[in-house]
Amino acid sequence: MKAAVIHAPRDLRIEEWETPQVGPHDVKVRIRAGGICGSDLHYYLHGGFGTVRLRQPMVLGHEIAGEVMEVGTGVTRLRAGDRVAVNPSLPCGHCRFCLAGMANHCLDMRFYGSAMRMPHLHGGFREVLVCHEQQAVILPPSLGVETAAFAEPLSVCLHAARQAGPLLGARVLVTGTGPIGALSILVARQAGAREIVATDITAAPLAMARRIGADLALDTAADPGALDRFKADKGFFDIVFEASGNARALAGALEVTRPGGTIVQLGLGGEMTLPVNLLTTKEIALKGTFRFHEEFAWAVDFLAAGKLDVAPLLTEIVPFTEASRAFDLAADRSRSMKVQLAF
Ligand code: ZN
Repeated sequence: MKAAVIHAPRDLRIEEWETPQVGPHDVKVRIRAGGICGSDLHYYLHGGFGTVRLRQPMVLGHEIAGEVMEVGTGVTRLRAGDRVAVNPSLPCGHCRFCLAGMANHCLDMRFYGSAMRMPHLHGGFREVLVCHEQQAVILPPSLGVETAAFAEPLSVCLHAARQAGPLLGARVLVTGTGPIGALSILVARQAGAREIVATDITAAPLAMARRIGADLALDTAADPGALDRFKADKGFFDIVFEASGNARALAGALEVTRPGGTIVQLGLGGEMTLPVNLLTTKEIALKGTFRFHEEFAWAVDFLAAGKLDVAPLLTEIVPFTEASRAFDLAADRSRSMKVQLAF
């Protein structure tokens, strides 16, 4: 079988790759759809992010769905022919955080397409994947593999929404309207937000934000003072989803969050200088959010029930054999929201 293997920045190759053995509790999946995520793009464009760097060739990809080809002798819940979304996260189940119900912080996490550990854990942009049975979530007939491949980024946003607390009646700001910001808008809307304002520095994702339900979408590059009106009376927003990882966006969020409000930091950023006095004097909660656990199964259910319409976000499907072209396309925010590979 073939896999999309990143060797170095801009060096993404389609290579022959060995199919692993199917263990008793494994499932062999023919991958059909794979979404390109921001972290895949970081490996492709920069060879990694922060301290996480490529140190050996790695198969990319962790937003994947396909069809079961074969199951291990101990697997009873799945069978050949089932269509599945594959959860890229496999926590150990017995470390201190797994036992505490915080499996996304597992000390021995195996997450597809991640260079965090050595050897790197290869990802799902390959024709055939062998995963643990607990990673395979069966799709109902109503749910296509392209939509199902959104389960992973949607899980991230569902987990972020839980970090935020109740969204019913909330005034919400979403900074950064790439796929994660856009999905956060859909989640906030579904969860009962009263008003959703989105910001970005590029026109196309802002247009998408409006299309999928943001009440207002503001270009903070064209108009750096676009959020000024929300600074009055100690701030306007109850909850902010910061999905850009940009220091100016987070600093700006502190100015427009009301006292007692919550900022959920989704975007990965580097070192930042912030007006911390605003955090202190307005008693703002600044919370991190990282990956997901049980939310993956929720995401599949929500997508299957049509509670969230992700279809507008899928801007292009590219044959897997043209992976480099797909990655270049995905990196162009003026043209692309979510680009998927078709296998
Ligand atoms: Zn663990």
